[in-house]
Amino acid sequence: MNTALSADPSETPCEPQAAAGTAQAPGRSAEQRAAHETNKLSKRLHRQVGAAITDYNMIEQGDKVMVCLSGGKDSYGLLDILLSLRQRAPIDFSIVAVNLDQKQPGFPDHILPAYLKGLGVDFHIENQDTYSIVKRLIPEGKTMCSLCSRLRRGILYRVADELGANKIALGHHRDDFLGTIFLNMFFGGKLKGMPPKLVSDDGRHTVIRPLAYVAETDLERWAEHRQFPIIPCSLCGSQENLQRVQIKNMLREWDRKHPGRIDNMHRAFSQVVPSHLMDRQLFPFETIVPTGLADPAGDKAFDEDEDETCATPTPAPLGEVAVPMEFVRRPRD
Ligand code: SF4
Repeated sequence: MNTALSADPSETPCEPQAAAGTAQAPGRSAEQRAAHETNKLSKRLHRQVGAAITDYNMIEQGDKVMVCLSGGKDSYGLLDILLSLRQRAPIDFSIVAVNLDQKQPGFPDHILPAYLKGLGVDFHIENQDTYSIVKRLIPEGKTMCSLCSRLRRGILYRVADELGANKIALGHHRDDFLGTIFLNMFFGGKLKGMPPKLVSDDGRHTVIRPLAYVAETDLERWAEHRQFPIIPCSLCGSQENLQRVQIKNMLREWDRKHPGRIDNMHRAFSQVVPSHLMDRQLFPFETIVPTGLADPAGDKAFDEDEDETCATPTPAPLGEVAVPMEFVRRPRD
């Protein structure tokens, strides 16, 4: 898509969050500082969403984007920012917000229609009692999410067809991407994250994730600032995936202790070096041969990369390194 959706393309989309908004200008009142921070947050969110849309060519002239709205902070934030970016975009695209009311007990079905009417945005509420189906088919105490999301996906694809939407926008953010890659590594034995853009399994829809660069903590702050009428996500009674919760806590802890680490990991998703992984489908290890030509940018098989060493303490000068005794003594047979 156009670059104009990215407010400032010169800035990287993954700036360290810890550096954002902590400086306090002298002489400002608490209200002024709060307004300043909110303004920075708004700019960052718009810039990051614009950059993701541009980088992955998510939205094009004439698109009709169906924004899936659950009532949680992420999807509210997504709709809010897309609506605002659309106003300044040099191309025409339309937005329709869709909520799937799954008939979970206690779901406050008046909240979203009232909110969306207030915004003046096109919207559709799809009523489908998937809750009863899932309850009937999944034994008590088992996680319902897998079947529930499969049913939801099918319904949303159909609704997109009926509404004439060619793009389906989901509210997954940077931390969802990271959580997924760790879940897949820990439990699936795969290096596989969450695509920012994909063609659906029925081959008919393009699914986009414009919040791919956005930190969850920023969405939390934005939801608070914008006073979104959040609908609790525990109505179905299903426990959130325990492993995902643990990974989320691990990432938050890292972010607290090592500011910038999460951003670096996230940036790594788009800087993959296939020759330094072990997937023979991605790199032809079997057929590589020496060319006889020196390449200054080529691999130095026995040296560490600069990027790796800069994260560790400065190594002691050679000759002052204490050699562990197990390397000196020959182990007894
Ligand atoms: S948390 Fe509840 S609504 Fe969400 S996917 Fe799981 S079962 Fe479905």
